[in-house]
Amino acid sequence: MSAPTAPKKKGPPQIGLLKGLGVTLKTFLSKPTTQQYPKTKPDLAPRTRGVIALMEENCTVCMLCARECPDWCIYIDSHKETVPPKDGGRARTRNILDRFAIDFALCMYCGICVEVCPFDALFWSPEFEYSTETIEELTHEKEQLRKWMDTVPPPPELEYGAELPKEIQQGLDAARKKAAQRAAATAAAAPAKDDAEQDSGEKKEVEQRLEDTIHVEAQIDQDVFDKLVAEGKSERVARAKAKAAYVRAEKKRQADEIRAKEEG
Ligand code: SF4
Ligand code: SF4
Repeated sequence: MSAPTAPKKKGPPQIGLLKGLGVTLKTFLSKPTTQQYPKTKPDLAPRTRGVIALMEENCTVCMLCARECPDWCIYIDSHKETVPPKDGGRARTRNILDRFAIDFALCMYCGICVEVCPFDALFWSPEFEYSTETIEELTHEKEQLRKWMDTVPPPPELEYGAELPKEIQQGLDAARKKAAQRAAATAAAAPAKDDAEQDSGEKKEVEQRLEDTIHVEAQIDQDVFDKLVAEGKSERVARAKAKAAYVRAEKKRQADEIRAKEEG
């Protein structure tokens, strides 16, 4: 049996103590990184996952988001309505959304619902200050989810030289083709255009090109929608026309702004 070895000799205990105190002193003198929320608002990225917003008009009640949600915290109720036949067509049934709610007490902000929605009805808003006194209030109903849409940032500008999305490109191509056909027909009917007319045609073309480059997120123009519904148009048609009216007006407004800036 071997004899027990003598314990190794350690350095003076004060060295470790001094090192520890050095770290404490360094941290004590450095600038604090803690932000005093809510006095200091955090500088969050513009597309932070704060809360989910619902564009109710786009929701077709396909239930994909509710089925894919890993927490089962999306609640959807709907009923079916028969839409009367149009011009001799068959009557069709469509789903009408009665309830769309998200329980943010359960939600884990994974974003799956936003990703899977095939109709662009769900969006992330960076708003995060919606804490409540009771847990029940964290279930946001569709009216509240619709209000969050106002805080959703617009889509980012396309990079210089980037291709437009397929649907937009197709729409623009079709509009340009029609315009070219119309112009050719007019030219054939009146070949001798005077200079003033030609100038105004070129000006219009430039304006059209400017409006084509502006991207606007479609929203419903409520006045147009109400007017069309009062005139007896179906809600679907009224909604589409009201969105188109909003986009046209907004593009014109932004184009006027750009022109005013260029002239000023
Ligand atoms: S973010 Fe995730 S957990 Fe929250 S509602 Fe959507 S799918 Fe469900
Ligand atoms: S996936 Fe989109 S369209 Fe389908 S129910 Fe959910 S929000 Fe509505």
